[in-house]
Parts: sequence; structure tokens; C-alpha cells
Amino acid sequence: MSEFELIAKYFIRPGKNVDLGVGDDGALVRVSNDVQLVISTDMSVAGTHFFAETSPYFVGWKSMAVNVSDMAAMGAQPKWATLAIALPEVDDAWLAEFSRGFFACADTFGVELIGGDTTRGPLNISITIMGEVPTDQALCRHGAQPQDEIWVSGRLGAAAFALAKLQHPKQFYYVDESELKELLPALHQPIPRLNLGLALRGIASSAIDISDGLLADLSHILQRSNVSARLIWENIPSVRLAGDHMYLNDLQQKALAGGDDYELCFTAPAHQHQTILNLSSILQLPISCIGHILQKDELSQSQCKVFMRDGTEIKLSHTGFNHF
Ligand code: ADP
Ligand code: MG
Repeated sequence: MSEFELIAKYFIRPGKNVDLGVGDDGALVRVSNDVQLVISTDMSVAGTHFFAETSPYFVGWKSMAVNVSDMAAMGAQPKWATLAIALPEVDDAWLAEFSRGFFACADTFGVELIGGDTTRGPLNISITIMGEVPTDQALCRHGAQPQDEIWVSGRLGAAAFALAKLQHPKQFYYVDESELKELLPALHQPIPRLNLGLALRGIASSAIDISDGLLADLSHILQRSNVSARLIWENIPSVRLAGDHMYLNDLQQKALAGGDDYELCFTAPAHQHQTILNLSSILQLPISCIGHILQKDELSQSQCKVFMRDGTEIKLSHTGFNHF
């Protein structure tokens, strides 16, 4: 199969929302009035972001989902994407499942594939996503203010526990097979919190999606906003496991520093508290107030501290994923 047959077979579909889609030297799209275009790129590399043997449906879903998650974190409506893919060989069965997962996610969140590039090489998927946000309403990392409340959606740690169990089954023996089955969708088929991100326009003062772990990602907000933060462990919504009371350290490690959650962490002024709780029930999504923003130098030594309700501070061995 030639490169062009491959593109036609797996990646060309009739386009909506696009004046000229796949097939020319460039795509033509029409941007709405009074919006800003939001652009973000995320790459998924075999061996780094997923196992080469991961079901290609999930590879397709997740490589799109992590990009949609960036739009959610910006409060942007995703619209268009390009897909640059390097494939070691033409494997029809793999491509058919990959494109099925990719388009399942794209369709769920209203994204149109408008172009890309296809080459031979080690399996690598790079997606650029484009979306729209009404001018000046984007949720940015730099807007957190002292006294703002810090919130997080969903439950943290499921993807990290699933990955840990797959990689070190003996060490995580207390996660049983039926629990693993419940944890795996968080790792393989994350649901970006797009409805929440869109609803937070005008409410949140800053936002980020959690890809590298709560503390690592929150620290980006703190850095960009020039503030610090105090969190309360018992308020942080962690995944529930039968053995978790016996393995509190693992639970804290995974919930605070585990990657791949794709929940949103955001800040908002305290007067928005009830509005956010109402949003939680409308969206049927847990949204938890986990702490407060402080002035930059209110904490000694660090920019973020996590305390147990009894006042003891939690110290972690790793605070988040870092590629280098
Ligand atoms: P060019 O030589 O101009 O870079 P290509 O031959 O690489 O064009 O691609 C032909 C068309 O197919 C272009 O419109 C490009 O955007 C699209 N395309 C290539 N690979 C993909 C892909 N994986 N997914 C979607 N569209 C793709
Ligand atoms: Mg090309």
C-alpha cells in the first residue's frame, strides 16, 4: 500500500467544519468572529507514552484525548486537528483499530481531522489540535490569586495504579485483578473534562490538566501565577482501593504525583464555591476543593505543601513525571 492509499483508507473522511480538508498542500478552515484560536501539540511515543503492544484502539483514543484535554484546560472548544504519524510498517489491522479509536474520540469531542503527515519510522504519533475560545476568556496558568480556592475534578491515581500494577505485579499484589480491570480505563481511555473546562470560563482564575501528576502540574500554575499553595490530603479525591488503608504511602504517591489522570486542576475565587459545587452536580462529576492559594512566600522552603488534617506534612519521594 502506498502512503497515499494508506492516508485515503484510514484518515480521510468527509469533513464538516472545514472548507478544504485532507488532500491539498494545506487545509482551509474558517475561524469564528470574536474568538482566539487556541493551538496545542502533544506527542505519543511507543515505549514512553504507551507500550508497543497496547491495543491500537486505545492508542488512537488516548493520543487524541490528551490533546482534547489541553483544550479543556484552556476553556477552548476543540475544532480541528492534524496528525503526524511515523509507522515502522504498514500493519492493516493496527491501522484500522488505531483510526477507529482516534475517530471515536475525535467524534465524541467534535474534532475534525484536517491534515497531517505520514512517514516510516519508530512508532510515534504527534497531534496538533486547534480550538476556539471567546476573546480574553481562555483559562490560563497565570491567573491564580492569593486566597483563591484550589479544585480538582474526578478521582486521582487510577491510571498510575493501573500502570504500576502492569509493570510491577508483585509489588502491587494488593491490587487484585478485578480492581485492575476497573482501573484500566483510566489508563487506556481517559475522558478529557471538556464540559467542565468550557463551563469554567468566567469562573476559574487559572486551570491546567493533570498529565504529569497533581503536584507537578499545580506547580506550573504556582510558578506562572507567582503564588504558593497549601493542600489538605483528606480533601484530595483519590481512587478507592480495598487495600488502600494499608498502603497509604502508595496511595499518596499515586494521587499526588501519579501521571496520566487528565483531570482538571483549577483555582477560583472563594465566592465561586457554590457555583462550582452546582456545576459538579450538573456535570455529575466530583469536583473537590483541595486547598488554598497563598502569597508567594507564605510557606518556608517550598511553593506547595500538603498536610494531613492533623497537621503533619506529607513528604513524597517523587513529585511527578519528568522526561529528563
Ligand atoms: P505534502 O507532500 O504536501 O506534505 P502529503 O503527501 O504529506 O502532502 O499529504 C497529502 C495530504 O494528506 C495532505 O493534505 C496531508 O495533510 C494529508 N495527510 C497526510 N498524512 C495524514 C494523516 N496521517 N492524517 C491525516 N491527513 C494526512
Ligand atoms: Mg507531507
